Amino acid sequence: MLLTSKAASQREFCNWAGNQTCRPAGIHMPSSEAEFVELVRLVRARGQTLRVVGAGHSWSGIACTDGHLVSLDRMAEVLELDADAGTVTVEAGVRLHALVDYLLERGMALPNLGSVAEQSVAGVISTGTHGTGVGIGNLSSMVESLRLVTGTGDIVEVDRESDPALFAAARVGLGSLGIITAVTMRCVPAFNLYERSWTLRFDEALCQMQSLVDRHDHIKFWWLPHTGRIQVFAADRTPREPTRVKLMHRIDDSGLLKPVFAGVLGLGGRYPEMIPALNWLVAATYFADYELVDRSHRVFNLPMPPSHLEAEFGFAREDAESALEQMRALIEWDQIRVNFITEVRFVAADDIWLSPAYGRESCQLGAYIGETPQWRSYFEGVEQIAWRMGARPHWGKTFFAGAEQMREVFPHFDDFLEVRERIDPDRVFSNAFTRRVLGS
Ligand SMILES: Cc1cc2nc3c(=O)[nH]c(=O)nc-3n(C[C@H](O)[C@H](O)[C@H](O)COP(=O)(O)OP(=O)(O)OC[C@H]3O[C@@H](n4cnc5c(N)ncnc54)[C@H](O)[C@@H]3O)c2cc1C
Repeated sequence: MLLTSKAASQREFCNWAGNQTCRPAGIHMPSSEAEFVELVRLVRARGQTLRVVGAGHSWSGIACTDGHLVSLDRMAEVLELDADAGTVTVEAGVRLHALVDYLLERGMALPNLGSVAEQSVAGVISTGTHGTGVGIGNLSSMVESLRLVTGTGDIVEVDRESDPALFAAARVGLGSLGIITAVTMRCVPAFNLYERSWTLRFDEALCQMQSLVDRHDHIKFWWLPHTGRIQVFAADRTPREPTRVKLMHRIDDSGLLKPVFAGVLGLGGRYPEMIPALNWLVAATYFADYELVDRSHRVFNLPMPPSHLEAEFGFAREDAESALEQMRALIEWDQIRVNFITEVRFVAADDIWLSPAYGRESCQLGAYIGETPQWRSYFEGVEQIAWRMGARPHWGKTFFAGAEQMREVFPHFDDFLEVRERIDPDRVFSNAFTRRVLGS
């Protein structure tokens, strides 16, 4: 019986960062769509709730539940590649790194990736996960079609033509519009990137930011607070063969990266007054100029960092500099010690209702910090800046506001709720997070 499956004896869920834990009523790992249908119908009939978890790599409480927790770890195969059409169809639980490897072996790649590839395909889609490059949308925008088990236990195959409203909603669905069981997404012939990295002073970087964004396929900026320095990473497609791999990958291969990095974070957490000096040390060690050519995924992805906390907001692209200046003022005036980088990335506009990049080119501004006594005041301050500037939250990262603020910043918020009413009338897929951000 699904609701009393063997997996149900394993009662706790904890996310990757360790900042979200919950005790679900049951944990389930079905291996077929038919089992998902049976589970949804049973949960609905009992008036209970159900949440799907991917790889548990969100900082927000988006995947947590005291109802039933369902994993697609047994539905994690690549189903079909159509290289001519440039599409790949996967079972939704497949991890990004497995998909990347599968595609590479067949001379293909995803057009863009974020910093890591540990997440599940359905998980990244459901939160609007992105890489960087103002000409390329987030991973949700690469979706061509989805298969969903809805809140009524029906199976729906949705694409742009079959149900435009559901398609606009379900590509960033927050796990609230059903269990995604399969996804078809766009892929491209494998490519190499020429990456160059250099350091600028904070003000210099702000002056050059918009023109650099226009000039490069993929560009990101890492500002290490208290140092006044910003490291630029610019990558462009090249026919050249790989030359060497990033310093960070090489240090990671040596096994030193994580313990050293975790040690520095831990020290800053215990003695926050040391953070500015530690940041200077990190900048001097890591912020080095370099250039290299490598496979796209090895340029996009970085080694897994040690545990830390993240908040992130999607600003209108043209607000990037002002938002960064306000963050610097927040840190200086409130004397907040920040022991992690602030990351600035750019994403193309899309047409997905709850995507942070809906209808506008966006600057994704990520505020990161280790577990220090000031993490919460830092995130609250950054969030105030975000709301003042009409920015939108990254659903997988920390923020505190609720449905009224979401209605302000997502023009199709109420359309999303209408679709949810149709797809999940009994709110089978609700949890504390969705009750806060979508309303009950
Ligand atoms: C180290 C690290 C680096 C990161 N780097 C980036 C980055 O570069 N760019 C970026 O944008 N984000 C980044 N993130 C955030 C991360 O990509 C998102 O939080 C993502 O959603 C996590 O995917 P997951 O598979 O772990 O999903 P989970 O966190 O497990 O779940 C996220 C949401 O997806 C839903 N979901 C999962 N599977 C299904 C399904 N089959 N059907 C319906 N709903 C489902 C869940 O219900 C939940 O609502 C990073 C996170 C970490 C920990």
